[in-house]
Amino acid sequence: MTSSDRIALGHWLTAAFTLLTGICALAIGLYMVNARQHVGANYTALVADVVRAQQHPNLLRTILNDLQEHPQQLNEQRLDNLMWRIPQHIAGVSHGLTASQLDPADYAPLLETLQQVEARLPEMERQIEAVAAGADPGALISLGYAVEDDLAWAYSELNDLIHGAAAEQRILMERLARIIGLLVLLVLLVVGGLMLALMRLHRQREQVARLSLADELTGLGNRRYLLNAAEQLHELSRRDETSLSLALIDLDHFKVLNDTWGHPAGDKVLEVFANTLLEATRQADVVTRIGGEEFCVLMPNTDAEGAYQLAERIRLRIGRLPKEKLGVATRLTVSLGIATGQGPDTDFDSLYSRADSALYQAKSSGRDRTCISMP
Ligand code: GH3
Ligand code: MG
Ligand code: MG
Repeated sequence: MTSSDRIALGHWLTAAFTLLTGICALAIGLYMVNARQHVGANYTALVADVVRAQQHPNLLRTILNDLQEHPQQLNEQRLDNLMWRIPQHIAGVSHGLTASQLDPADYAPLLETLQQVEARLPEMERQIEAVAAGADPGALISLGYAVEDDLAWAYSELNDLIHGAAAEQRILMERLARIIGLLVLLVLLVVGGLMLALMRLHRQREQVARLSLADELTGLGNRRYLLNAAEQLHELSRRDETSLSLALIDLDHFKVLNDTWGHPAGDKVLEVFANTLLEATRQADVVTRIGGEEFCVLMPNTDAEGAYQLAERIRLRIGRLPKEKLGVATRLTVSLGIATGQGPDTDFDSLYSRADSALYQAKSSGRDRTCISMP
């Protein structure tokens, strides 16, 4: 995986995580709004019914108080109207209660009281008629106060019951919402953690892949890296009918350098040599360390003339490296063997063996020189 692939994966994971967070937030929001409306609608209608019905005992008391003060002035029309409205509201409230989520055991005694009130209404109607016909209002007044008392008590209790239940449900809902929020947060944390772990795993894999293709001492590509690159460049030059050149570079008398200045000094020279090689080559050239003091430069789209020029540039630069930079009081020289192929004739094995022969020739003819393998 290349670093741009990794960045793309990172963006993709971040986008997926943001999307997931957004969906979760939206789902919780919708749930809260919906639940709030549901809870509100459920109890608001019932409370409104009860509050409307609570006017009846108040009205009844006012009428009975008036009648007590003025026994001759019966407000028959208002009483009749009340006798008609009371059972209707009792029926409405009863229906609302049975349809609600309230526990029937909680409101059963109140419903029973309301039904008892309802059962006494025909008798009260008879007495209203009697008083209207001239009878004494005493019995009507005492029955009326009893009815008013029961109604007021039942509706007041119902009011408390419904408000209590609504408050309880709201608390439950808020608790539930908090738990859901926490769970979602937990899920997001787990998902986020997994995504981070995935990213780290990819980074590690990439690092392992990079290390398996790199030379530890110089940081250049190793033999495996060279083989991969050679395959691709061979394919490219075959397709485009272009030249591909290969230079094998071997440090001269390196064993002597090691023996004289020590192995660590030799390592330092190899590092300096690798950097010089990188400076002397082009961006497109593939520079690798393929053995102890053997290096290779693969040059795409480069003919024999171009390869020779590059090889000589390398050789001259190496020969001019100051002792201070090398860390050893000696002049460093290299021998190079180059081979060039054209189009299909650029497979690595044939280029390598030709360049190796040229290198052998450079060594055997005195070192510190570049030899070209003739096709
Ligand atoms: P020639 O000019 O014929 O190439 O002679 P040479 O001494 O360079 O070649 P030879 O193959 O005899 O010796 C190569 C030396 O390179 C021997 C080995 O100790 C040294 N060498 C190989 N790898 C490393 C390394 O990683 N660090 C150091 N310091 N030396 C190395
Ligand atoms: Mg060697
Ligand atoms: Mg050597």
